[in-house]
Amino acid sequence: MIYDVIIVGSGSVGAAAGCYATINNLNVLMIDAHHPPHQQGSHHGTTRLMRYAYAEGDRYMPLLQRSKVLWDALEKTSSTTLFRRSGVLSIAPLNAPLIPQLLASAQTWSVQVEALSAQQIRQRWETFVVPDDFHGVLDKEAGYLYSEKAVEQWIRLAQEQGCAQLFNCPVTAIEHHDELYRVTTADGDYTARKIIITAGSWAKKLVPDLPITPVRKVMAWFQSDGRFSHHTHFPAFTAQLDDGSQYYGFPAEDDQLKVARHDGGQPLQSAAECLPFGQVPTDGSECFAFLKQFLPGQSACLFGQACSYDNSPDGHFIIDYLDENKTGLVISGLSGHGFKCAPALGEIASHFALGQEIDTVISPFRLQRFATA
Ligand SMILES: Cc1cc2nc3c(=O)[nH]c(=O)nc-3n(C[C@H](O)[C@H](O)[C@H](O)COP(=O)(O)OP(=O)(O)OC[C@H]3O[C@@H](n4cnc5c(N)ncnc54)[C@H](O)[C@@H]3O)c2cc1C
Repeated sequence: MIYDVIIVGSGSVGAAAGCYATINNLNVLMIDAHHPPHQQGSHHGTTRLMRYAYAEGDRYMPLLQRSKVLWDALEKTSSTTLFRRSGVLSIAPLNAPLIPQLLASAQTWSVQVEALSAQQIRQRWETFVVPDDFHGVLDKEAGYLYSEKAVEQWIRLAQEQGCAQLFNCPVTAIEHHDELYRVTTADGDYTARKIIITAGSWAKKLVPDLPITPVRKVMAWFQSDGRFSHHTHFPAFTAQLDDGSQYYGFPAEDDQLKVARHDGGQPLQSAAECLPFGQVPTDGSECFAFLKQFLPGQSACLFGQACSYDNSPDGHFIIDYLDENKTGLVISGLSGHGFKCAPALGEIASHFALGQEIDTVISPFRLQRFATA
């Protein structure tokens, strides 16, 4: 049996790719080392931010805009709530470039935003104690996605459309001979005309030259109350502080407010080093100073989870071909901000599998940007 395409890693991007490729009548095999959704990759922890004003650069806007359409479609097709339009409030010191960058992005791409002074933020959300030398921007159409639920729906829809799925079965080797890819797993070898590697933090094990660094990150849930809930219009948020540290969080659900730190973390050599929450001394306390100053009223840390980022050298996505004939594709290095774009990335992967031209759309993300002169 020769598949049209094998997808190695069926987490956020791979699940979307498998679903869209199958819907497009390709003969697809999705493989994963675990059973997605799961807690051994980058997609667990319930929620992920979806923002439209994007300081990370214009290259992301086509992906964000296409993802918006695809997220809406997935919600409808699956009859599942996957997105909450809570708005995302970003705050930063007046002298930092972040808020002007977000406003410029919003203006260029017609994103609905509202610029807010510290006083206006405190008036609107009296629980947010923002100092006078800060300001912010509310990304009005933005909000947060339910990450595991979304992966679950793509996997289910793909399976219902007849996609072959091999889970709890790591890929140990990939070879390319005679215009075919041979994929080795504990379950045996599988062959396809094309391959898509979406193995997240561990893609480097299969593509050793990939310049990515897996980093352990933690998320923590704090005892909260209705004032911080989406029912009372408390927003999702990002916060950049004077010392450059960055935090983000979500409206409380069931009186549990999730907050995490975006910068920092522990570089990983292997998945086994990604210790459970609580096993690194700073896990439970890394957000305390932020919470104490900006969101006083949170009390005990209830629980947490550990997850991994797959950081590229410049923090931007990596999407590139694996061979000169363009029959292999890798999508990795999503660097802690890729979930929102997973539908668009999965669709690009499916277009690749269909033999359509994707050079233009992937050109800002190709590896050649790291080549030294
Ligand atoms: C704590 C945290 C917070 C984040 N917050 C946000 C956010 O707010 N907004 C946002 O947009 N993004 C966010 N991200 C980033 C986003 O979650 C990731 O960019 C995205 O989930 C990565 O998708 P992926 O498909 O590359 O990886 P994954 O979803 O991890 O999928 C990779 C899959 O490959 C499988 N795999 C690995 N190796 C093998 C192998 N050898 N054989 C078979 N299968 C294999 C894994 O089991 C896994 O299922 C966050 C990430 C983390 C960790």
